[in-house]
Amino acid sequence: TETLLEVRNLKKYYPIQKGLLGRTQGYVKAVDDISFSIKKGETFGLVGESGCGKSTTGRSLLRLIEPSSGQILFEGEDITKLSQAEMRKRRKEMQIVFQDPYSSLDPKHTVQRILEEPLIVHGVKSSAERQKTIAQLIDVVGLTKAHLSRYPHQFSGGQRQRIGIARALALKPKLIVADEPVSALDVSIQSQVINLLKDLQREFGLTYIFIAHDLSVVKHISDRVAVMYLGRIVEIATKDKLYAEPQHPYTQALLSAVPEPDPEAKRERILLKGEVPSPANAPIGCAFHTRCPAAMDICKTERPVLKETSDGHLNACHLYS
Ligand code: SF4
Ligand code: MG
Repeated sequence: TETLLEVRNLKKYYPIQKGLLGRTQGYVKAVDDISFSIKKGETFGLVGESGCGKSTTGRSLLRLIEPSSGQILFEGEDITKLSQAEMRKRRKEMQIVFQDPYSSLDPKHTVQRILEEPLIVHGVKSSAERQKTIAQLIDVVGLTKAHLSRYPHQFSGGQRQRIGIARALALKPKLIVADEPVSALDVSIQSQVINLLKDLQREFGLTYIFIAHDLSVVKHISDRVAVMYLGRIVEIATKDKLYAEPQHPYTQALLSAVPEPDPEAKRERILLKGEVPSPANAPIGCAFHTRCPAAMDICKTERPVLKETSDGHLNACHLYS
């Protein structure tokens, strides 16, 4: 299958300014040199604890945040080179669904207006055409026309997320970055929204980047999964391989925390020492070495590179070099 998105050496560094003169005193390396590619129609899970840079990555891909460096090839075109005006046009094809549908939907606007806005902004001139699209959108996410005249606060969390998804679909995107789309929802509602996303993917041939903070959520939707730690990708594999044979010590620890209903498959819980260090002060060498149960001397000085260990399975760990 064709590649839809290729990310090369993406970085997002925020300068830390101190003192009266605002001199730069180092950087918060929110995203620190990550590379991956995503095929058309694929769901790519991006997982890591809060602060690991996954949301910054998601927003950088759409240039809602400007990357510090690196290339983002969308259908072969490096979109980091586009002007803001050109990027706005391109963004029709790349949409985002946010974690908290309440704060991302304007409380003063009806659902009708929320869904109509992107159509107007992107030049759908005919009102009849807009109404037709809105009627399709509301139907396709499992709501009804009667909902169009209501305001966001009149809906449940799950319904609000359906509205957020409808808005993301309005411009017929190819790629949707779903940034923890179910994390704020009750567990009983989470699977409904995930199933809706799966149905929409099949119906519209969508490609997803699905961001989550734990491995249990992405399991049901991802084809492949990348695990992030302190701004870096530490492992990428197909979902099946990642869950059956996690290679990176951090992935192994994350996975050991996932509830496993099958007692045969139960893993021993790996408890990591300490807290995640601040991205303003990431350890040199392997950023995970301060917490890694398998750390060696080399880990304190040399940064491991992400490389393929077996077919399509990549990790960044000195244990494998
Ligand atoms: Fe642990 Fe070293 Fe591998 Fe990092 S490179 S995960 S510290 S063994
Ligand atoms: Mg986040």
